Amino acid sequence: MFESRVDCGQRYRCKRKSRVSEQFASLHCAGYLQAPNSHEIMNKLKYSVFADQCLHDLQVLQEQFITDYDIDSYENWFYNNVTGLLTFSTGEKEINLRFVLAGTYSTNTNTWKWAWDKESVFSKGKGEIEAIKDFGEQTAFDKLITGYFESSEEEAWQLSAIAVYLLNGIGVYRPVSEHLLCFLVVLDVVDNETAQEIKDKYVECGLHECRRRAFVCQHLNRASKVGFEEAFVTHVNMELDIEDDLQAWCDECEKVREREGEWNDSSMAFANIKLVCEQCYFDMKEVNIRRK
Ligand SMILES: [Zn+2]
Ligand SMILES: [Zn+2]
Repeated sequence: MFESRVDCGQRYRCKRKSRVSEQFASLHCAGYLQAPNSHEIMNKLKYSVFADQCLHDLQVLQEQFITDYDIDSYENWFYNNVTGLLTFSTGEKEINLRFVLAGTYSTNTNTWKWAWDKESVFSKGKGEIEAIKDFGEQTAFDKLITGYFESSEEEAWQLSAIAVYLLNGIGVYRPVSEHLLCFLVVLDVVDNETAQEIKDKYVECGLHECRRRAFVCQHLNRASKVGFEEAFVTHVNMELDIEDDLQAWCDECEKVREREGEWNDSSMAFANIKLVCEQCYFDMKEVNIRRK
């Protein structure tokens, strides 16, 4: 079903660091730097040395990751791109890991797609994954700034290894979804209590699937204008502290709240707060701030 070990063959194993300097040395001596495309050649070589080193490092990390957390011993696994949590469990026993999706490899089209080039804006770790592109721009490494290109499964591991290096990850987990191999960069382990707190911040919406939770008064809806008062200024996909939730209420509720002087039993009863998803919240906001 899935493969969590790096399968990149023996040849990467014996690549010693000294070889890197040898390659660079020979490149300088051969005078390639004066050649017309020297910069391009140099950069390709630089990239390949860097990528190989990352893959080598990942092999070491991966062994450690699987052993330290006894990953292969669990019966079930589950990951959620929205919460950014990867959970392994057997009965009551579970372990939760934070991850970001680096990218996907399609076995149908033999192509790689970086996560920053797709996926909904609601995926966790968008910011982290953009860092890979930034690094690619600084180093002019084409493969890190091209969102989608022809590739191989072996290279997909290499690209994921670069992501692990840049994001300071502890390993890679690679579930399969139909023809897509999903490369998850595992960042760290969170204790079960924190994991539950994170999961509690999300809600399954009938319209939008899994999203962050939000709270609104019973009168707010996605069709009619009733006013939109917020607990704090919000914008789509904003960062929220763990103790903060999106909260909004209508003009009528605001009148009751002002009359009561606070949110008390009476104003709360009038509002009759309901739980909605973040997308529904912003849909309601949109309806209310629209001019007409
Ligand atoms: Zn209301
Ligand atoms: Zn929704």
